[in-house]
Amino acid sequence: MLNGKVAVVTGGSRGIGRAVCTRLAQAGADVALLYASSAEKAEAAAQELRIYGVRAVAYACRVEDQQETADTVAAVVKDFGRIDILVNNAGITRDKLMLSMKEADFDDVLNVNLKGVYHMIRQVYPLFARQKSGKIINISSVSGLIGNAGQVNYSASKAGIIGLTKSVARELASRGICCNAVAPGFIQTDMTEKFTENESLLGSIPMKRMGRPEEVAGLVLFLASEQSDYITGEVIRIDGGLAM
Ligand code: NAP
Repeated sequence: MLNGKVAVVTGGSRGIGRAVCTRLAQAGADVALLYASSAEKAEAAAQELRIYGVRAVAYACRVEDQQETADTVAAVVKDFGRIDILVNNAGITRDKLMLSMKEADFDDVLNVNLKGVYHMIRQVYPLFARQKSGKIINISSVSGLIGNAGQVNYSASKAGIIGLTKSVARELASRGICCNAVAPGFIQTDMTEKFTENESLLGSIPMKRMGRPEEVAGLVLFLASEQSDYITGEVIRIDGGLAM
């Protein structure tokens, strides 16, 4: 399905990003997996992907750093020859109620979650525009759609991703490039470890369970494939009904 395609996935060392890498590799894509600091996990993930007969390389790249994103995208093009799919998945939380949220908590989350997406798209934009093809998938959140107490910084970053996604989609649609967002609810990863036993939270989800990273990965695969060639500027919730 994605044979011959090259995918770049930020935050591919763990959680949703790692599951996305696996799903794309299973579909035949070569994968450039970006991570911030978990070198061992990233290398192990890349090695695992090679089981599927694809090329996979891990790159240390803090997405909030413009120079690192430029250098990494250049290295990926040098190593793989092209880029067809960009999945902006890297993200962090610094949850606190507004009154105790420090400026640094706000800036850190906005810089990684939103500016990181800007940096990565800025780097692949000329490549995609030139080749008149490309798929950009940005991982937002239901927090960006309906807000969440204690997540002023995070929900602002994830709502920002939605506006950015629609603007990029409008800029690039005439060249056949798709830019969409995925808005997960509660998915079982390191990020949500503290919520897994929270019964009132699970009770608020119509499907009464958290989602699995593999479920989000399946949706990302659809948005990365030619089956979604006429979908752009869309935000698709994957949340067990939480934000409907
Ligand atoms: P996770 O398990 O905490 O993994 C985060 C990933 O992002 C790791 O690979 C991490 O790399 C990478 N990362 C963190 N800071 C980075 C930076 N500055 N530069 C580059 N990479 C960085 O998170 P997750 O739950 O899989 O979440 C993935 C995405 O889905 C995030 O954008 C998150 O906001 C979004 N999301 C998650 C949920 C959920 O319930 N889990 C719900 C909605 C949306 P290292 O391993 O090197 O630290």
